[in-house]
Amino acid sequence: MGAAPGPAFHALRLDGLQRDFGALNALKGLDLTIQRGEFIALLGPSGCGKSTALNCIAGLLPLTGGSIWLDERRIDTLRPEERGFGMVFQNYALFPHLTARRNIGFGLRMRGVPKPELERRVDAAIAMVRLESQSEKLPGQMSGGQQQRVAIARAVVVEPPLVLMDEPLSNLDAKLRIEMRQEIRRIHNQLGTTTIYVTHDQEEALSLADRIVVLRDGRIRQVGAPEELYARPAHLDVAEFMGYRTRLAARILARDGDVLTLDLGIGQLQGIEAAPIAGETATLALRPDDLQPVAEGTPHLRAQVEAVEFIGREFHGLARSARGDALHFRAAERPALGETLCLGADPRRVLAYPEMQP
Ligand code: ATP
Repeated sequence: MGAAPGPAFHALRLDGLQRDFGALNALKGLDLTIQRGEFIALLGPSGCGKSTALNCIAGLLPLTGGSIWLDERRIDTLRPEERGFGMVFQNYALFPHLTARRNIGFGLRMRGVPKPELERRVDAAIAMVRLESQSEKLPGQMSGGQQQRVAIARAVVVEPPLVLMDEPLSNLDAKLRIEMRQEIRRIHNQLGTTTIYVTHDQEEALSLADRIVVLRDGRIRQVGAPEELYARPAHLDVAEFMGYRTRLAARILARDGDVLTLDLGIGQLQGIEAAPIAGETATLALRPDDLQPVAEGTPHLRAQVEAVEFIGREFHGLARSARGDALHFRAAERPALGETLCLGADPRRVLAYPEMQP
């Protein structure tokens, strides 16, 4: 393996990672420590810097500032092949003239691994991605999902210290994406290879990752376990990204610990202070699943049903308040279009943020 760092390390550390493209600061100083064996998702909207961060870690892009460390060893000065990380891209990037088996064995051949060992490891990798019956095919003769399995096997067969995946499932249809998601998690559970996975799909990040790093505008906004990010986004923009689709302006009437009583002009709700609020006004964020018809008497908002869809087991609806708010809600029974509903929520699920966030 020459100078390549072996898989045995404790942590990968990004220290003030910066990358400019001319006048554009694509990464504005990322600090992050990843423990060996972790599956990390880099999540964020288009253009937030996810691929740039991944390419900097891979060594495909030089840094403008900061450094990257594997334990005590500085690695951002190493060439990509000296880092020896496995890469899986959106477009598979397989060698079109090599069979699946030869694609998968490529890295081992380059490293001069003796033939018997090479064959044994390639066989194991083919079995792991369940491609036994396809291994003599060329990439052009395989489906997208099969090609991506080859790419994954090719990346992990050399037992790299780190595997970097950039939106590997985005070219696949919805059903295959879910299947491959489970496959990737299964392979990770089996091998325990430290993985950084770039995606803009929060469901993918929530289902795959041990920890999610939310990026926005070249900065880390929040790092946490999927459950933590789902239940308690630290910022309004992270909440929106996590599926809190309803946003409502509110006035704080009373505080009891972190529980707030809120007036919205279209009714009252109770909620929790998800980020420190200095003033008397707040923006509330709610998931469609947490707002539902309630009996008169409990705190509620009034809104008129505008659209309803059946999603299996229950209904999702959009209601409009008298002041024009869009409220996404769920209901056990089909509400009538035009009907005025009382919509309420568990206070722990109503998140209040400062009205204006920097
Ligand atoms: P996407 O999900 O759309 O791929 P991303 O989060 O991966 O987005 P990056 O590709 O990292 O975003 O891009 C971050 C910013 O840097 C964007 O504003 C992009 O236009 C810019 N950028 C990326 N690569 C280059 C380049 N080679 N030259 C100039 N600007 C670039």
